[in-house]
Amino acid sequence: MAEKLRPLIAGNWKMNGLTPSLMELGVMIAGAGIASADLLVCPPATLIAAASAAARASGTRVAIGGQDCHASPSGAHTGDVSAEMLKDAGASAVIVGHSERRADHGETDAVVQAKAQAVWRAGLIAIVCVGETQAERDGGKARDVVGRQLAGSLPSGASAANLVVAYEPVWAIGTGRTPTNPEIEEIHGFIRAQLVKTLKDQGARVRILYGGSVKPSNAAEILKLPDVNGALVGGASLKASDFLAIAAACS
Ligand code: PEP
Repeated sequence: MAEKLRPLIAGNWKMNGLTPSLMELGVMIAGAGIASADLLVCPPATLIAAASAAARASGTRVAIGGQDCHASPSGAHTGDVSAEMLKDAGASAVIVGHSERRADHGETDAVVQAKAQAVWRAGLIAIVCVGETQAERDGGKARDVVGRQLAGSLPSGASAANLVVAYEPVWAIGTGRTPTNPEIEEIHGFIRAQLVKTLKDQGARVRILYGGSVKPSNAAEILKLPDVNGALVGGASLKASDFLAIAAACS
């Protein structure tokens, strides 16, 4: 029987958002009180300091996170941002291994693992993304791919306090398509079994988010599935009313 964990609804704004977008964040902050979930918004790095200042000033339960970080704390890495810098700007969590980073920047499991380690070094929560492509699913390889990514991307020392896993089938991201409920249930159950195998009791309490075309109209049915402990939301996290409606679907 899957343990009931407090859900986390995390918004990934990707490379979207200018200063006026903080107004949208303000609406999220104002509406967060009614959600029976933890809320996290990951704006682009340029907005993290202002977003966390706004969240702090309101005393809200909305946390602010980063979308990626460099594995080193500082150094000659032009254009990169370290986990320590994200923490300094007010982030409490960092997404690592998003499929767009894996595809656009050639990030391997080893790179993702080093980044997750860096997130912990800075004292933040790592949200580690895994998920298969369409071809891998069609080839019956979804479990193999997710299992390999998990084994390669998670550093040792993971616990329910420092790790969140996001299952994001690549073919479901931004496409409006989602796996069937049994398909989501199968992979989430598989991820849970892997986590318990390596992390024992802690593995039973690590939150596993589903990500890929979550929207207000499908959130409730996905969020009630066993071992779905929240959602990583891309497009629908840009609009406060959609993001809050997804959060409200957590019961
Ligand atoms: C994402 O990029 O993490 C994501 C889940 O995107 P979308 O919700 O737009 O599919």
